[in-house]
Amino acid sequence: MRVLKFGGSSLADAARIKDVCSIIGSAREREPVAVVLSAMKGVTNLLLQCAGEAAVGDAAYHDHVAEILTQHREAVERLPGAAERSVLIAMLEQLVHELTELLRGVELVKECSARTLDVIASFGERMSCRLVSAYLDSRGTPAVTVDARTMIITDNYHGSAAVDFALSYRLIAEELAQTRGIPVITGFIAATAEGVTTTLGRNGSDYTASLVAAAVGADAIEIWTDVDGVLSADPRHVPEAFVVGQLSFKEAMELSYFGAEVIHPYTMIPAVEKNIPIWIRNTLNPNAPGTRISEDVVHDKHPITGIASIDNVSLVNVEGGGMVGVPGIAGRVFSTLAQVGVNVIMISQASSEHSICIVCRQGQARSAIEGLGRELAHELSHKLIERFELIEDLEIIAVIGEKMRGSPGISGKLFSALGDAGINILAIAQGSSEMNISFLVHRQDRARALQAVHRAFFGTAESGAHA
Ligand code: ADP
Ligand code: ASP
Ligand code: MG
Repeated sequence: MRVLKFGGSSLADAARIKDVCSIIGSAREREPVAVVLSAMKGVTNLLLQCAGEAAVGDAAYHDHVAEILTQHREAVERLPGAAERSVLIAMLEQLVHELTELLRGVELVKECSARTLDVIASFGERMSCRLVSAYLDSRGTPAVTVDARTMIITDNYHGSAAVDFALSYRLIAEELAQTRGIPVITGFIAATAEGVTTTLGRNGSDYTASLVAAAVGADAIEIWTDVDGVLSADPRHVPEAFVVGQLSFKEAMELSYFGAEVIHPYTMIPAVEKNIPIWIRNTLNPNAPGTRISEDVVHDKHPITGIASIDNVSLVNVEGGGMVGVPGIAGRVFSTLAQVGVNVIMISQASSEHSICIVCRQGQARSAIEGLGRELAHELSHKLIERFELIEDLEIIAVIGEKMRGSPGISGKLFSALGDAGINILAIAQGSSEMNISFLVHRQDRARALQAVHRAFFGTAESGAHA
């Protein structure tokens, strides 16, 4: 069996949905398939926006709900041969009615908890799957919508819940064994053991696909999107970026963790466990070979595999002579950050031990500083630690590749390229795995930095595009 996942970018309108269904139809002729879908393009963003609006009593959410319904209704009306059109439209309207009731509740209490937000976010996938399975059915390819909340079980960490693998694998295998026709499974959404709706994090449908594949022992996972594969850098910042033919699971994990949103980082976890290769393919160009992500990779001539970046991060610098040689400061810093819910993306500490530099999402920097201020009040008042420094509007750029391990000269090449481009670097980190060098630049330098690094390692478009 193959698990085929289609993202929102492939489900923009009727024309794209037709392409998706042709791909499913041809795959089905070769071997059994299970399909995992995201919400239609832009729908999850709109749903989250509606929740935010309702919570502050902004009636604009009614227009946005109407927009969501129109997007689905137009797709249904433009898809040929949908015999049960009116039944499908009634079903979609019923879901939108449920959504509106929920938003009204949020408006009344003027508050939207993370738990309610997950329920609101779940409507996108619930609607897209009904639409696509009805259309597949009408084309003579029997298909059934499967709500993942009956089989992917998580904890109650709303917004990014943790999966109970053993239980979910068993439930998925049981559910799919009894499904007649192609299962069209809602990506992104799951439930707690008590049946409360949760979500797996933004872009989480990729992860759903890999959970399903691991549960049924699939031969491959195909992530269908709007680019020809994993590119050497984000094409929105580096026009010369080219398709990387093969990647290891580890490289894919690092690239996606550092911002390559073409695949969700957790997708690799079940795939590695069951050694299932992942393909990234383009619905707009189904003949392109795509990128293969697997255990056994033959690397090409380039010393690095790809470059990724994370935007909107802040740096918090904890600095002071009183930290030198004093054990436990780093431990207290990181425990405090965990207590106040700050996710540390990058750390760097000079060997002088004079400063610890922490990088987190911009929105979490204030909590970090407040938490550290409380924890280190004694050290601050005795001047063992100086005032914390906060620098905002930064970007992390990461250069990734397993071939970097043991290859001397990569850092030299990287930092000379950045120096030649006149880019100021605020901090650097390299893990001992030597497959990632990350550095911090000001936001306005991001595109120039990415392009300079891309040119240094991959050359011009012509010399790189061979891969
Ligand atoms: P989907 O809706 O199919 O899940 P996403 O928008 O989540 O698609 O991911 C695909 C997008 O990821 C591409 O259109 C591209 O702009 C962006 N992207 C960022 N970094 C990379 C990269 N290294 N390789 C490919 N795409 C990338
Ligand atoms: N629809 C969800 C999102 O936009 C999940 C996904 O697309 O993978 O984040
Ligand atoms: Mg995605």
